[in-house]
Amino acid sequence: MPETIAYLDHAATTPMRPEAVAAMLGFLTERYGNPSGSHSIARQARLALDEAREVVATALGAQPGEVVFTAGGTEADNLAITGVHAAREGARRSHPGQGGTVVCPAAEHHAVLRTCAALGGRLVPALPDATVDLDALADTLGPQTSVVSVMLANNEVGTVTPLAEVAAVVRQQAPDAALHTDAVQAFPWLDVASLAAPADLVAVSAHKFGGPKGVGALVVRAGTSIAPIIHGGGQERDRRSGTHNIAGIVGMAAAMRATVATRDATVQRVAALRDRLADGLLAAVPGAVETGPRRSKVAGNCHLRFPGVESEALVVLLDQEGVCASAGSACASGAMEPSHVLMAMGLPVTEANTSLRLSLGATSSDDDVDRALDVVPKAVAHLAG
Ligand code: PLP
Repeated sequence: MPETIAYLDHAATTPMRPEAVAAMLGFLTERYGNPSGSHSIARQARLALDEAREVVATALGAQPGEVVFTAGGTEADNLAITGVHAAREGARRSHPGQGGTVVCPAAEHHAVLRTCAALGGRLVPALPDATVDLDALADTLGPQTSVVSVMLANNEVGTVTPLAEVAAVVRQQAPDAALHTDAVQAFPWLDVASLAAPADLVAVSAHKFGGPKGVGALVVRAGTSIAPIIHGGGQERDRRSGTHNIAGIVGMAAAMRATVATRDATVQRVAALRDRLADGLLAAVPGAVETGPRRSKVAGNCHLRFPGVESEALVVLLDQEGVCASAGSACASGAMEPSHVLMAMGLPVTEANTSLRLSLGATSSDDDVDRALDVVPKAVAHLAG
């Protein structure tokens, strides 16, 4: 491993915040209680759970009773979509298969796309900036629509969806449908409490903003019915069974509090770093192209294409030189599989396979950008040559 590393894959996961680690430690050692119990050790855990729920609710613009703790963003998305769908099916028991139709745009994360597919849902085309095509959405929705799931910020290219506009279309065309938003990539950068206010369900994941992996939350607004997808002891008011991951939940709450308190300053600082990185690479690499309009992206996203350079090979070479990045394609069965997001944006396969995502986070520094500006142009020139 090279001596110094420029970690530019924060959209995949970001380092734990010290506040989160400190908050968790006691719950990994002496405060080991199960909050469902009825003795003093259990009460200690329940108090911590209640406090964490308050913090998470405030950060997400919800009431504490609307927060359901999950084992991450994937589970939160699954619970939102399958949970509403199943609740509606349950309410119409006399008409099996009448849970309605689930709808999502083609550039969603697989946690949403595959849940939608598993329920026989419908896909809506994306625009060239990866946001949903609102006209196509309006045409797809109808009285049968049960859930519409539209992400707040895209995980690959970083574009932010105007959720209020999506909500207006949904309320107009499918007034009975629930609107879910995957805010997993948005939370580090955007005021999710206000931007996701038009949604009935909101999913977040702790490890994207300095909390631990395997913990997340789903806001289920009062009046939105969901059926559980995990059955058991009835925790989380019967919406998500399983003994609470107290340390993880407390860590997530601490990371959320720290993220919200510093978000404006972080966005300003990181956007400047990202701009220096993107502009520097566009100037240094002949033919380099930026994906999507920068003004509609979250601050940490830098997504570029280097014509003629296969992104998987580039990521391997960058890794050898101490730059951690991510490719817009994956090698499946010996062939390059282009990213479904880039395909949904209408890019040809050959271009999609030349893309590189450099994602910055709260701990990104000028040194990271300097290193990438030094290493990436050389690596691209080497592979192009
Ligand atoms: N949704 C989006 C937009 C994501 O970027 C991710 C993670 O990459 C997820 C959902 C899944 O979250 P988790 O890793 O917590 O399961």
